Amino acid sequence: MDLGISGRTAAVAAGSAGLGLGSAKALAAEGVRVAICGRDSERLAAAAAQIDGDVLSIAADLGNPDEGRSFVEQAIAGLGSVDILVTNAGGPPPGMFDTTEMDAYQMAFDMNCKAMIEMCRVAIPPMRERGWGRVCAITSVGVKQPIPFLFASSVARAGLTSFLKLTAREVAADGVTVNSAQPGTHWTDRVSKMMDQEQAGQSNPMGVCGDSDDFGAAVAFLCSEQAKFVTGTGLLIDGGQATGLLD
Ligand code: NAD
Repeated sequence: MDLGISGRTAAVAAGSAGLGLGSAKALAAEGVRVAICGRDSERLAAAAAQIDGDVLSIAADLGNPDEGRSFVEQAIAGLGSVDILVTNAGGPPPGMFDTTEMDAYQMAFDMNCKAMIEMCRVAIPPMRERGWGRVCAITSVGVKQPIPFLFASSVARAGLTSFLKLTAREVAADGVTVNSAQPGTHWTDRVSKMMDQEQAGQSNPMGVCGDSDDFGAAVAFLCSEQAKFVTGTGLLIDGGQATGLLD
């Protein structure tokens, strides 16, 4: 299916590996010109080599929310515009009630909530002026079902999700959609540091982990022309992992 976004431009944060890279690849395969960011120039170069077309690589540490804003500003300057914003970053370290210190909450808030808000604040106003835009935030299944060993992550992403919902309604009449893609367990560097692949697959009703490229295809759909009436929602891409009804 042609997603109707060929010739558009996208900023994909933390697109140097994992789910961000899967998203950048899927958008580029649709003919979208892509900017990615990450902290490490070698990883950025390796990622750019896997993405179709000319890729704009920008160094940014999203642990500093100002660098989130700067990433989108540089993407707009380099690409001429940003029609599609995929917010994403690394994930906070594990921790429970007893083992999560206050500074871990602050770091998660800065990287997984405030940096995303900064990116949206730069990208969305020109999208509204042009009458077309797509924002897709990569968050987590933890938004629907908080993860007991990821306190800081679950708390920060809940805050971001409120921001996304409110923003979606405020900008809906201007042709801009705002959604989130909520991963369950996908086999990426992050997950490989927390568990082995067999263990990760066993926690899923499908018995396997998700795949970054499949995840990216779902993100590309949320950013498509055809998804113009989908906004303010969170799409679980979790192989049936979440057990609640309200999804
Ligand atoms: P990953 O670690 O495989 O890749 C993350 C990418 O972000 C890497 O390219 C890394 O270099 C970059 N990055 C990390 N910290 C950064 C920073 N401070 N500034 C800029 N770039 C940074 O992670 P992933 O599995 O692709 O996860 C992406 C996001 O999705 C994370 O926030 C993660 O917590 C969340 N998530 C992932 C899963 C999963 O199963 N993979 C599940 C739920 C939520």
